[in-house]
Amino acid sequence: MNERDVTQGDWKVINPANGSVVETIQLAGVEQVHQAVAAARQAFPMWSRTTPGERSALLLALARRLEERFEEYVQVESTQTGKPLRLCREFDVPGSIDNIYFFAGIARNLEGKASVEWVSNLNSSIRREPVGVIGSIAPWNYPLQMAVWKILPAIAAGNTIVLKPAELTPLTALMLVEDCLAAGFPPGVVNVVVGIGRIVGEALVSHPEVDMVSFTGSTAVGRRVMELATGGIKRVHLELGGKAPFVVFADADLDAAIQGAAAGALINTGQDCTAATRAYVDSSIYPQFVEGVRTLFGSIRVGDPGDPSTDIGPLTSKAQQERVVGFVNRARDAGALIEVGGQVTGDPNGAYYLPTVITGADHDSEIASEEIFGPVLVVIPFDGDDEGLALANDSRYGLAASAWTTSVIRSERAQRELNAGTVWINDHIPIMSEMPHGGFNGSGFGKDMSTYSLDEYTRIKHVAVDISGDAQKEWHRTIFSIKE
Ligand code: NAD
Repeated sequence: MNERDVTQGDWKVINPANGSVVETIQLAGVEQVHQAVAAARQAFPMWSRTTPGERSALLLALARRLEERFEEYVQVESTQTGKPLRLCREFDVPGSIDNIYFFAGIARNLEGKASVEWVSNLNSSIRREPVGVIGSIAPWNYPLQMAVWKILPAIAAGNTIVLKPAELTPLTALMLVEDCLAAGFPPGVVNVVVGIGRIVGEALVSHPEVDMVSFTGSTAVGRRVMELATGGIKRVHLELGGKAPFVVFADADLDAAIQGAAAGALINTGQDCTAATRAYVDSSIYPQFVEGVRTLFGSIRVGDPGDPSTDIGPLTSKAQQERVVGFVNRARDAGALIEVGGQVTGDPNGAYYLPTVITGADHDSEIASEEIFGPVLVVIPFDGDDEGLALANDSRYGLAASAWTTSVIRSERAQRELNAGTVWINDHIPIMSEMPHGGFNGSGFGKDMSTYSLDEYTRIKHVAVDISGDAQKEWHRTIFSIKE
């Protein structure tokens, strides 16, 4: 039986740099989902009545726990995913800590409309309330950050949560939940179940005591999650796949665009939902752009995540490596040109793949339209701005996009017309806790991070209070005649 066919009992977390076992954990089953949801349900009345200040204090304590264990988080995140230590030290772990500090701040700043008599003698106000028990499911590409993005806004707003991290990379999410308890969160507020998606994930999403489902992962699984949640009329928040366009106009700073394409396509070995994957380049500068990315991609050092000179590490699993191999081989067979890369490399027990640039693929070919989730950039020429923007928008996804230009007018036009939840101009990838992250169309709906995420995890109640004290209100005349 394939190791990855295991659904219960011992589960090996594998280091994709060399195939070694990082840790063996016990997979949860449906029974553990019931227990976790019951704990979250039981904790909800108490937690939802804590003050924002009390919640904020615990979140600050949690951030400090992560700061104390910073290096441990870095090492575990790197070992379970294959991320270079540099990426974990400078992006994954500090980004997660910053996110926790951010939510500790905005937990105390839940906004609403002013209390006003919109009609005479009736005072209206808004109560912003937590939704209840949140069932959350996360992917394997940024295990700690995804766990933080899911847990923090939910609990900052007074919800309790059951998180199911990806079974491939559960270790830093388990550490995070352990640190929640150590920081003083009452038992039951934050719960974790590590199990197989189609068993434990589905049991969580369809559990009658789960009020809201928050999912980050592929569009195909997101669709299934939404179907399951529909039965219970649950609130749904979906952060799904992407195929971000990277539009290089004729007047772009070419060096910046080439550098940006490599950074945007190769971060996290391309396993980033916002990664630059489709570069559309004005035909007047196409040859120079292709030459530039071919050279730069060819110079990227692929290797051991622990080596400080490594630029990118392996893919996160052998299965992901096979998936990338399949995409590139099919593109090659269909006549596309592999400018650089296009093959596995390094330790055969690892999941390495060379940074790859592909040209000569049709815009609507598989390689240019499906999410690959690997270090692969497809470059396609366009003629004129209208065509460049139209090609960029011709996708079922709408998560992120970038435009490269030195013209204010082109920049403004791209901001307005690119159909994506995040649009960068002359950059691609940076995210920040204060700004929302979330997609349009097949990339889902709802926002992570920022104050907007609190809208996902709160419900709005209108409360109207009579301030006349009259038995017979003025509006009663619409029902029956007023006594003199
Ligand atoms: P995936 O959809 O295969 O799995 C995501 C999670 O869903 C995992 O925890 C998995 O166990 C679980 N799951 C699988 N089948 C399930 C089912 N039937 N019911 C319930 N849960 C189930 O995605 P992945 O391969 O882990 O991650 C890569 C995908 O995530 C890419 O498509 C990427 O674009 C997307 N992603 C999106 C964002 C975003 O913010 N939009 C961020 C990161 C990753």
